[in-house]
Amino acid sequence: MIFQDKALMCSDCGTGFIFSASDQKFFHSRGFRNEPKRCPGCRDKRSQGICLASDAIHTSAPDAPCDIETPAENVVDFESFALSPKVFAGVRLSGYVKPTLIQSKAIPHALAGSDIIGLAQTGTGKTAAFVLPMLQRLEAHRNGNIRGLVISPTRELAEQTNESIASLGRRTGIRAISLYGGVGMTPQMRSLRDGVDIVVACPGRLLDHVWQGSIDLSSVEMLVIDEADRMFDMGFLPDINNILRYLPQKKQILLFSATMPDDVRQLVQAYLHNPVTVQVGHVAPASSVTQVFYPVKQHLKSALLMDLLRQIETESVVVFTRTKHRAERVAEQLKNAGFKVTSLQGNLAQSRRQTAIDSFRRGKVKILVATDIASRGIDVLRISHVINYDMPDTADAYTHRVGRTGRIDNTGEAYTFVCPEDAEMVRIIERMLGRKVERRMLAGFNYDEESPKTESVRLTGSRRFGQRAPVTRGAGGRPPYRRVTRSAIP
Ligand code: AMP
Repeated sequence: MIFQDKALMCSDCGTGFIFSASDQKFFHSRGFRNEPKRCPGCRDKRSQGICLASDAIHTSAPDAPCDIETPAENVVDFESFALSPKVFAGVRLSGYVKPTLIQSKAIPHALAGSDIIGLAQTGTGKTAAFVLPMLQRLEAHRNGNIRGLVISPTRELAEQTNESIASLGRRTGIRAISLYGGVGMTPQMRSLRDGVDIVVACPGRLLDHVWQGSIDLSSVEMLVIDEADRMFDMGFLPDINNILRYLPQKKQILLFSATMPDDVRQLVQAYLHNPVTVQVGHVAPASSVTQVFYPVKQHLKSALLMDLLRQIETESVVVFTRTKHRAERVAEQLKNAGFKVTSLQGNLAQSRRQTAIDSFRRGKVKILVATDIASRGIDVLRISHVINYDMPDTADAYTHRVGRTGRIDNTGEAYTFVCPEDAEMVRIIERMLGRKVERRMLAGFNYDEESPKTESVRLTGSRRFGQRAPVTRGAGGRPPYRRVTRSAIP
C-alpha cells in the first residue's frame, strides 16, 4: 500500500493539518482505517480519556485518530513488536506463543513511550504487557541505576512480578529485586547497593528505604503502578503520592487497574500525560454515574421515554436500542413528538452518519438514538444521560453504554428500561456491579395503559396476502397457533 501526505481539516478548530504518510502507515499497521478528524493539538486536548470506542475493548491513543473504531480482533504477533533478540528470547523461553489481548493493545503504545492506563484484571497477561516494554527500554543502556520501578499492593504480587521479570528477562542481564515488609531490611539494602535495574516494591517498604537513604529513585525512567484500585482500597494513596515526589519529573507511567474508582481517576489526572487507555473485559462504571432501573412494560417504553425527557433536565442524551430498525423508529417517534433528535445505526451511509454525529457533537441536536455498534467512536464530552431503551445483551455492553456519561470530572445518569423478560440480564449486571441498582417509577406516568395494538399472529403455517388464515383444529379442538401481543414498537 502506498501512503502519501494528506491535507485534512480539523473538525474542532477548523485549521488544516497534515496526516503524514508515516502516520498513515503506523495507524494502518494498527488496523485503523479512517482518517483523523482533529489536528494533533486538538487531539491532545481531548485525549484525557474522552475518546469513546469499541465493544469489549477500548483503545484511545492521544496520537491516534480517536474517532476511529478499534478493530474488535486485533491480536498481533510477538514478532510485530520488534523486541530486541534477547527480550524476544525470553518470550519464547517462557513458552508464550501469541500475545494476549492486553499485550497486543498495550505493548506497541508502551514501546512508543506513551503513558498508559491499562484496564485489565489479573489473568489477562497484564504483567508481561508492562514487563516486556520495560525490559526493552532498559536493556539498551544498563548502568546499575534503578531505571524501572513497579509498585505493587501486596508482597505476593511483587514476588510474582519479580519472577516474570526474571523469566522474560533471563537473556538480558537485567537485574531486578522485590522489596516488601515483613522481612529484614538489611539483605534488601545489600542488593540495592550491589546495583539493580528494576525494583518491584510495596509502597510502605519502598518509602522505608527512601527515608533511610538506601535507595535512589532519581534515575527512574519508567514507573508501573500495578493494581491501582486495590492499592487505594488498601489505603496506599498517601504513600503513592509521597513516592512520586522522589521520582524525576520526566518519566513514562503505566497504570494498571481492574476498575476506575475516583481515587484512581484523580491520580491519572495528576500524573499521567496524555495517557492511552487500553481495556480488556468488564470495568465497572465509574461511581460518578448514577444508575437507575425503570421497570416498564415493553409497549410503554416510548411513552416513558418521552415523559422522562420532558421531566428531567438534560444536556446531551444517548438513547440505546437493540436493533437498527428500532433506533430509526424511536427517533422518528421522538421527532414526531417535537424533540430534536438524530439517530445513528449501521444502515446509514457514511455521509449521513457523519452529519448525525457532527450535529450531536456540536450540540445542535441533544438526543441521539443509537445502537451499540453505531455509537462506537462518538466522542462527546458532555453526555448527561444514557438511556437504555432496550436492555443491552451483555454486561460489557452495559458498561460501555453507561461509560458514555460521567466522563472525567462529570457526573452522569444512566437509566435502563427493564421489562420482565430482562430479569436474567438484571441479575448479571447487578452481580458485576456487586450491588443492587435503584428501581425508580416515574411520577405521574400511567403504567397501567393497555397495549394500543393487539393482534393475533399465526406462528405456524403460511398465510397468503389478503387471505384469511384457515383455522384448523388440533386434536384437542384447540387452534394450532398461539395468541401473542405485539406492542406498537417492534
Ligand atoms: P497475569 O495476568 O500477568 O498475572 O498473567 C497470567 C498468566 O498468564 C501468567 O501465568 C503468565 O505467565 C501467563 N501469560 C502471560 N502472557 C502470556 C502469553 N502471551 N501466552 C501464554 N501465557 C501468558
